[in-house]
Amino acid sequence: MINFWQSQSLPVEGRFLMRTLKLGDRGKEVLDVQSRMCGLGYNVGTDGVDGFFGPDTQAAVLAFQQANGLLADGIVADNTWQELVEAGYGTGERLLYLKIPSFRGADVLILQRSLNRLGFNAGPEDGIFGYVTERAVLDFQKNAGLVVDGMVDESVLKSMARVTKDAGPHADDAKIPDRNGGSAAGRSLANIAIVIDPGHGGDDPGVSGDGPVPEKELNLQVSIMLGRALEQEGSRIYFTRESDTDVDLYDRPALANAWGGDLFISIHHNSCSSPAAQGSAAYFFCRQGYFSESGKLLAWHILNSLSRELGLPALPPIGRNFAVLRETEMTAVLVEPLFLSSGRDIDLSDGRLADREAQAILAGLKRYFAVA
Ligand SMILES: [Zn+2]
Repeated sequence: MINFWQSQSLPVEGRFLMRTLKLGDRGKEVLDVQSRMCGLGYNVGTDGVDGFFGPDTQAAVLAFQQANGLLADGIVADNTWQELVEAGYGTGERLLYLKIPSFRGADVLILQRSLNRLGFNAGPEDGIFGYVTERAVLDFQKNAGLVVDGMVDESVLKSMARVTKDAGPHADDAKIPDRNGGSAAGRSLANIAIVIDPGHGGDDPGVSGDGPVPEKELNLQVSIMLGRALEQEGSRIYFTRESDTDVDLYDRPALANAWGGDLFISIHHNSCSSPAAQGSAAYFFCRQGYFSESGKLLAWHILNSLSRELGLPALPPIGRNFAVLRETEMTAVLVEPLFLSSGRDIDLSDGRLADREAQAILAGLKRYFAVA
């Protein structure tokens, strides 16, 4: 088994908070969050940076989450904290180059976007300085007659600013590369590795619903059944968990990267205080204007077959910047087949529910491969 701690995605300074921060909390971690929010131009209220997580700080956190494609819950946990830290890096504030763990941040994202617009393939615009981004920097340096060392220093930034200004109206025509080279074209379920990620587990039950089992349990049931069905098709299957255990949010994509997965499917279930909310939802990677085309297509096929099988409306595929979608180096989707709170429209005690969901996701995967 591969030692995933050697994966380039882990670990990153500043990633982990000591605790989750929410309305009513106090302390120096709240101070830290507030000063970062202020630095980014968010209004944390009349008392400003005072170490108290009041309604103004919560509103600022919500606005930040919405602007960054995160789950908008007003709570600062690992995913929001990581994005907050990265958002603070402005272009030219630090020397960027390939290292392990990778540089990440708003400055890396701007670099990738500039390189892609100029026609140098910097890979997905995910704000993570990996091998593909380094290759693009080397290409750029060679073309611009600079020292070819992969270091993004002042000479590179100046030269890039000059050609970006001169690039003219054709600059936007450059094809923006997708994750995993764009699609699974020419491949089939029989010869790929699929990582299945049952959401939550252990101390984290997920959402509570009206069904007989908590979200974490249904996620696991659907995942195991989907894995078995895919094995019949010849796919190699990896699970981020196979029992009721805790798995860290950032370990899930790190495992998938270490295993060299071709597809990543995270299984969750939805819940809403209003029993009227119903339908199947699926999410693909989207961050500041960039999105995964292959992820969107896969989400669309899975949604169509889920709604057909379960008789529920399909919401349109939704672009999000969730950690499992961003950190995975392969095409990734997060699927929520139904609302555990909508017992009115679906029989949650149906013993075949998990199997029906798994079969529907499988049918969606097959359609994706038929057209990709
Ligand atoms: Zn969930």
